Amino acid sequence: MIRLADIEKSFDGQKVLKRVSLAVREGSVTALIGPSGSGKSTLLRCVNLLEIPEAGELVIGEAAVRFTGRALDREAVRRIRRQTGMMFQNFQLFPHRTALGNVMESLVVVLKWPEDKARARALELLEKVGLAHKVDAWPAQLSGGQQQRVAIARALASSPSVLLCDEPTSALDPELSLEVVEVLAQLAREGTTMLIATHDLRLAARVAQDAMLLDAGEVVESGPAAQLFACPRHERTARFIATLG
Ligand code: ADP
Ligand code: MG
Repeated sequence: MIRLADIEKSFDGQKVLKRVSLAVREGSVTALIGPSGSGKSTLLRCVNLLEIPEAGELVIGEAAVRFTGRALDREAVRRIRRQTGMMFQNFQLFPHRTALGNVMESLVVVLKWPEDKARARALELLEKVGLAHKVDAWPAQLSGGQQQRVAIARALASSPSVLLCDEPTSALDPELSLEVVEVLAQLAREGTTMLIATHDLRLAARVAQDAMLLDAGEVVESGPAAQLFACPRHERTARFIATLG
């Protein structure tokens, strides 16, 4: 359902993704692991076209784009972006919007939903992430775990086909990260398709069926998460997993 094929991306002439291919099955979760600077964030950003690769192909559901270095079809870009929701390590909530306002924003501004319909959808999502009692709170009044749960609700607002998570627990202490892991695990059980870049083996082992190790922009190993974590085939994978403890 999501397929990346032979993705190449450079910054300043430096190749940071080298023929990266990846498939995420509908209703499944893939964990993307790898050292800092290996290209995880860049790869996620290529999936929602925040970065445009120089070569390769991206397919999400019915929408497909081939990267050739030439300008992309704007309609295809719009269709791809509409099917993705993204959350970040540092939450990136709008500071001058309440929890409710954060979740409603894209529905009202981008999708032009009427306010009452957007509000109903946002309330439903905030309840789902356990924040029905915090809908009127400002981001600064929320803990990190609560802010990240608002970010999850916001990313899901437009019912994307895939939720992209960039280190969703890295900025949180273990206790707060647990509440975010619980929400992501619940979403996984409900069949939300997710691609999660993470250093958090507890998160990855809990929610991912598949895993992929990137190192220096290359896929070192990919396969069933349980196998990749417990008995990796490659020395580089084993060494990296040992560093995660
Ligand atoms: P990771 O998320 O695995 O830590 P990144 O995707 O952030 O890795 O970075 C991969 C490489 O690309 C790094 O060498 C990083 O410095 C470089 N990079 C990422 N974004 C940019 C950018 N906007 N401009 C220049 N270099 C970048
Ligand atoms: Mg990153």
